[in-house]
Amino acid sequence: MANTPYPESYYAASANAVPPRPALQGEVETDVCVIGAGYTGLSSALFLLENGFRVVVLEAAKVGFGASGRNGGQIVNSYSRDIDVIERSVGPKQAQLLGEMAFEGGRIIRERVAKYNIQCDLKDGGVFAAITAKQMGHLESQKRLWERFGHTQLELMDQPRIREVVGCDQYVGGMLDMSGGHIHPLNLALGEAAAVESLGGTIYEQSPAVRIERGANPVVHTPQGKVRAKFIIVAGNAYLGNLVPELAAKSMPCGTQVITTEPLGDALANSLLPRDYCVEDCNYLLDYYRLTGDKRLIFGGGVVYGARDPANIEAIIRPKMLKAFPQLKDVKIDYAWTGNFLLTLSRLPQVGRLGDNIYYSQGCSGHGVTYTHLAGKVLAEALRGQAERFDAFADLPHYPFPGGQLLRTPFAALGAWYYGLRDKLGF
Ligand SMILES: Cc1cc2nc3c(=O)[nH]c(=O)nc-3n(C[C@H](O)[C@H](O)[C@H](O)COP(=O)(O)OP(=O)(O)OC[C@H]3O[C@@H](n4cnc5c(N)ncnc54)[C@H](O)[C@@H]3O)c2cc1C
Repeated sequence: MANTPYPESYYAASANAVPPRPALQGEVETDVCVIGAGYTGLSSALFLLENGFRVVVLEAAKVGFGASGRNGGQIVNSYSRDIDVIERSVGPKQAQLLGEMAFEGGRIIRERVAKYNIQCDLKDGGVFAAITAKQMGHLESQKRLWERFGHTQLELMDQPRIREVVGCDQYVGGMLDMSGGHIHPLNLALGEAAAVESLGGTIYEQSPAVRIERGANPVVHTPQGKVRAKFIIVAGNAYLGNLVPELAAKSMPCGTQVITTEPLGDALANSLLPRDYCVEDCNYLLDYYRLTGDKRLIFGGGVVYGARDPANIEAIIRPKMLKAFPQLKDVKIDYAWTGNFLLTLSRLPQVGRLGDNIYYSQGCSGHGVTYTHLAGKVLAEALRGQAERFDAFADLPHYPFPGGQLLRTPFAALGAWYYGLRDKLGF
């Protein structure tokens, strides 16, 4: 069987040492079989183990092989859609529950890091940077909105203030969230996997779920084994393929690219980001960046609809980096990679249950580091019979992409082109 390695990335090159994990051979029996060892799967597994469930995790490649081991590492709170839009769509009661949960994922990450002593370069502080006055106005209304749901830790920044924390002249202002921050994403996933095993959970790598036998006693098949479980959690996100056809129609894998510079040294690194906060701008097709533990700049941006891998990632992302920081023109790019996230039409996560015993959460549409940690808790609550918070997500409406599987990519790209043009023209 193929042994799928990590893609070549800064994260893979600086990953903490981990034990080898076997592929599943033969038959095992458990309470919950989790498909996918990204944050959704690992967070679910941890909450379930902490609550007395037996858990087996099947991972097609390696722990953190997907977006969880490749992302920008930005702990961005809330969802990929503003809570007032959610409120208009689902009404005040459900929006209240979702609004209250919007900052919980970041707290869960910090609790996990502290409880299981995970070494992942955790830093506090995330900046939303406004390029236009209109974007600044949006941040102001977003702050008021979040305060309605009890999130009062946000600070608006005028131009001189943001210039103190981001050494870039592009921004008219911004908003600082000290409950945001950043991490080495793969090391967070690896630490969570070790925590799963410390609680008696089992993780099989190189063990793709190839078929789910549904029914009262479901069975998940891999090429060389099977897992009998009372419950299944599907957490394969953009890498799931067509294992669960009902889920594929209403979501679309999209690629996004990241580059990492050579180490910049303290002086240059501090001139870019003096407080070591992470930054994302407020464009629809947004740029995001931060420093690593060894003072490199990680810069990401852009979306490839339909998740095709671009031939030259550096050629796409480096010009964006140089627009923000022209002083990096002679700096070498050491790593460039791509990863897939899962987009839904509403940009809200797709959560639910198939039959009585197959649960899923996927499709957080770009901002998933915090949401996936919350999702694990909410799924575990549902399996324990407390489904109020799960239902708040599961009741969100989802629609198939226009054009079906064949035409959804060009339609979504057209929509993004329109929003990208609006970003460029500043309206
Ligand atoms: C390049 C990039 C940058 C990003 N930056 C940020 C950021 O800075 N901040 C932020 O909040 N979000 C960011 N995101 C989004 C965030 O990383 C994701 O939303 C999140 O990691 C999704 O976690 P997940 O566990 O649901 O999916 P994944 O991490 O993709 O994990 C799914 C796992 O399931 C496995 N799998 C799939 N199918 C099967 C199967 N049949 N059997 C067994 N295993 C299977 C895969 O191999 C994979 O390991 C970024 C995404 C990308 C791609």
